[in-house]
Amino acid sequence: MVERSIDFERRRYMRCQTCSHEWEVAVGDEPCPECGADGTSEHYPTFWVRPHDPVHDDDTVRDTYWYHSSTHAVWPDKDFDPTAQLTDVCRQRMEYSRPGAVERWAADQKAKALHVGTYEAAIENMLRRMNRQSDAASQFYLHRVRLRPDCVIEPGIHKELRSLMGDVQLSDECAPGVEVYRYVNVHEDQSSVSLAVEISAVGSVQSIPIPLAVDADDPELRAATARLVSAAARPPVVLPETDDPLEQMLRRYHPPATPLASEAGALLQEASDRLPPRLRDDFSVGFDEAGFSTDSSVYPAKLIGLQRLIADPQAAIDTFSAQPWRSV
Ligand SMILES: [Zn+2]
Repeated sequence: MVERSIDFERRRYMRCQTCSHEWEVAVGDEPCPECGADGTSEHYPTFWVRPHDPVHDDDTVRDTYWYHSSTHAVWPDKDFDPTAQLTDVCRQRMEYSRPGAVERWAADQKAKALHVGTYEAAIENMLRRMNRQSDAASQFYLHRVRLRPDCVIEPGIHKELRSLMGDVQLSDECAPGVEVYRYVNVHEDQSSVSLAVEISAVGSVQSIPIPLAVDADDPELRAATARLVSAAARPPVVLPETDDPLEQMLRRYHPPATPLASEAGALLQEASDRLPPRLRDDFSVGFDEAGFSTDSSVYPAKLIGLQRLIADPQAAIDTFSAQPWRSV
């Protein structure tokens, strides 16, 4: 099996959809150097896969480790019941408007393709999801996937289809029997190849919780925790009295941050500054001020753990090697 080299700052590969020129870039927003087409053009330049990317070869696809990040500890799960997430009211509404709708919806959900890609794409996907309210505090898992050696692969590497954003059924895109569909990822680890796969193509999976745990006596963790503890002991910021009603209202709705919250913000900023610039906008970790007194190291451990997934991916790879493979 092949473990690809991991590099979050790899140069990207572009293809102009006006004149077909292809070129490499450090960041993705350049106009086409041949014809000048840019993001405003109808046929704008887009991320594309390198002509010599090894995953053009089917056997390489089968022999490569693929990754997926998820809030599910067990993934993919053949016994997954999509209707478990529906409320009774929601079920009744669906059934009321179209009898049998819940069953058909569940079948559609189960027929959706799974998505796997590079390690970088899986981590970037997690950061994007953490940046959304609903997954800000979720526990994530990284899954390493081995495809079945006899899985059927659609020829070629394709554009990322609009419907691929989570909702594709391979039978809509490919000949019957195809289990794996290669596409260029334009959102995560841009210009890498991701796969939409049927669950039947997945041979076995290893799973680890991410970020990895940080040792309690890790020097970086101890220093960051000490900064928070010392900030928590500082008196709150007291603003001078004011008679201005507008100012009074503003302070009521936006009270000044506590020294503890300010220090947590400073730690977040420092961790973010150490990431590749491309990833900084999506790096957000909510600080639970109320939970701080229970365990003062939870927040800094999460920041350090996340940052190390990017700075030291080998630690995660090494953790996988001690994990059993689960047949799917
Ligand atoms: Zn062009």
